[in-house]
Amino acid sequence: MGNCSRISAIDKIASYSEELPSDESLRQPDEFGKYVFNETAIKRYLPHKVAEKLLATIRDRRPLDPTIADDVANAMKEWAIGLGATHFTHWFQPLTGGTAEKHDAFLDVSGSGEALQSFSGKNLIKGEPDASSFPSGGLRSTFEARGYTAWDPTSPAFVKRHANGATLCIPTIFCSYTGEVLDKKTPLLRSIQVLERSVKRLMKAFGSDEKPVSVTLGPEQEYFLVDRNFYLHRPDLIQTGRTLFGSPPPRHQQLEDHYFGTIRPGILAFMTDLDRELWRLGIPAKTRHNEVAPAQFEVAPIFEELNLAVDHNMLTMDVLRRVAMRHGMVCLLHEKPFAGVNGSGKHNNWSVAYGKQNLLEPGEDPEQNVIFLTFLSAIIRAVDLHSDLLRASTVSAGNKHRLGANEAPPAIISVFLGEQLTEILEKIGKESPDKPKAGRSRETILLGGETLPPLPKDMTDRNRTSPFAFTGNKFEFRACGSSQSCAGFCMTMNTIAAESIDYIAEKLEKLDPADSEAFHGTLAKILSEIIEGHKRVIFNGNNYSPEWVEEAKRRGLPVLQRSMQALRSLTKDENIALFERYGVFSRTELLSRFEVFLEEYHYKVRIEGGIALEMARNMILPVVIEQFDRATEAYAKAQSAGLADGLRGLRGVAAEYGKLVDELTDACDGMQKALSEEHEAILEAMRRLRSVVDRAEQVISDEEWPLPKYREMLFVYN
Ligand code: ADP
Ligand code: MG
Repeated sequence: MGNCSRISAIDKIASYSEELPSDESLRQPDEFGKYVFNETAIKRYLPHKVAEKLLATIRDRRPLDPTIADDVANAMKEWAIGLGATHFTHWFQPLTGGTAEKHDAFLDVSGSGEALQSFSGKNLIKGEPDASSFPSGGLRSTFEARGYTAWDPTSPAFVKRHANGATLCIPTIFCSYTGEVLDKKTPLLRSIQVLERSVKRLMKAFGSDEKPVSVTLGPEQEYFLVDRNFYLHRPDLIQTGRTLFGSPPPRHQQLEDHYFGTIRPGILAFMTDLDRELWRLGIPAKTRHNEVAPAQFEVAPIFEELNLAVDHNMLTMDVLRRVAMRHGMVCLLHEKPFAGVNGSGKHNNWSVAYGKQNLLEPGEDPEQNVIFLTFLSAIIRAVDLHSDLLRASTVSAGNKHRLGANEAPPAIISVFLGEQLTEILEKIGKESPDKPKAGRSRETILLGGETLPPLPKDMTDRNRTSPFAFTGNKFEFRACGSSQSCAGFCMTMNTIAAESIDYIAEKLEKLDPADSEAFHGTLAKILSEIIEGHKRVIFNGNNYSPEWVEEAKRRGLPVLQRSMQALRSLTKDENIALFERYGVFSRTELLSRFEVFLEEYHYKVRIEGGIALEMARNMILPVVIEQFDRATEAYAKAQSAGLADGLRGLRGVAAEYGKLVDELTDACDGMQKALSEEHEAILEAMRRLRSVVDRAEQVISDEEWPLPKYREMLFVYN
């Protein structure tokens, strides 16, 4: 019975044969951005003057000239129709964590009954979807259900193609009738502006000319692939994205042979399709490889301007799922789809550039280094002051299974700099005992660059355990979950960085940068104070070790193990004040966001408990009872046949199954009860239920086991 599905799944996988591509070869330059209304398309489809105006909005983020909207819409429509589009949609990022789209056909019918294809400037700029069914955390009651989507011209429109058609997608923000934000893009855009303003302010204090600021992001995306035939027989995967049962097989990841291993042909075929699809959407997918766990992989793009990078990552997750389907697989983006092997994260590589200069790049010349050290210090201060907010940005029902589990950073946020850089920072503004004091003040000399040691360009010491690591020319935040939008972390990071940059700028603005001695002397004092005050957040050791937890507590760093405790940081007055001060969130907006995340977390836990109970009761328990029945029958038969041999063994087997029946029914009752209690009880009941089911899996006849096993899902694929 149960096993039939597993056998047939395996048979289907066994029949795979690698199809080599026809000669039609792929030319990357022709493919890249083919489905994006990018600069090339804009110039081709719009009159020169209009194109220039639109490009100015995109490049320099000037407000859009409303008089060109109709022309732009028309050009976009023509372009999209050329790619087979029949519909358009505003594409936005509600608080569900995914993306949303509601399609409208270009179709219009003329008075004489003929079909017309229309798409106006108004259609492009604004949409009015019914917002009542999106999470809002009480921001919007159903009687004032109207929501607005508004075009974000800085992220280009694109065409999403499917089997027999295509849709024009227009990236938009999403807010309520009364203007409160209901999405993840709006606060991100606000925070980018905030950081840009602060960076310009600080650079001005350094005496620099004004240049454009760009916040950059390169998100590395981890994922699992499982064969669809297995997936469809796992109600837990279908309902929750992770396996709630399953005992890790004897061989899992301990041989460390999967990481960077040769990519299997079926997977490579998938990855090739994936990259092609991503390139067409203008997503600069660059790196692909096997990850640590069996059946786990990674795709990473070349970094881009933050707003675009976040949109591109949302799209990447979408494309991953779609292309996997095409290859008979399912892409699991859950943070912990399988117990006992590594889960999936999303490393957010974040930096800021001023003009062409990456501010986190230690440079050749001293001046650049001074600026680098200033920004570095600002970030250290920001992370130390607001690590609770960074931690809060990682909270999700999925990510809780990964953080602190010896595979991902702990729930303690610290900064890795490497020893060399830490040493340099600690020396700033301090007398060096082995060098006599020069005529001028020591600080001036140090920051003026004359004795500033060469800064490490390539960090030789890499630390994979740190949640927030400086990796040579950027910071890498590693605590985000694989399914999470990057917007949460980035919005937080931008805001807290801006606050610390402003803190320094305010002091420097009082000085004259031309008076180098005074300027650098004061700067050294400021930085020295910052480092002294915040160096507790720097940790270059092993973040996975239990000693670090103790050490972190000694240092007074927040140790927010519990998700709910971490999430509650959003409700602290000083944090609300910070976001309000920078105009990223109003108090109501932030509190409503807290409500949404809280509710989502609780719903997800409850759904997991519910489906675990169903599976245990109507898939597992019947099989255990059946086995118990068979074993007791065999025992009875052996006894009545007067056999001596086998009786002891049969009795033991029957007793073991009998015990499983008891334990399983008890655990089910426990879950039933927990489902009417709060989430901690459900999580505890789930652990108990799982331990019984996983033990059952190991002893129940393989033929009867109804669920695809870990050894199959993680190892049987092409
Ligand atoms: P890793 O060793 O962690 O895989 P990589 O050098 O491959 O690191 O880079 C990881 C990501 O960091 C890539 O997406 C890359 O484009 C991105 N990255 C590099 N420089 C920057 C930067 N200045 N700002 C943001 N991201 C960057
Ligand atoms: Mg990395």
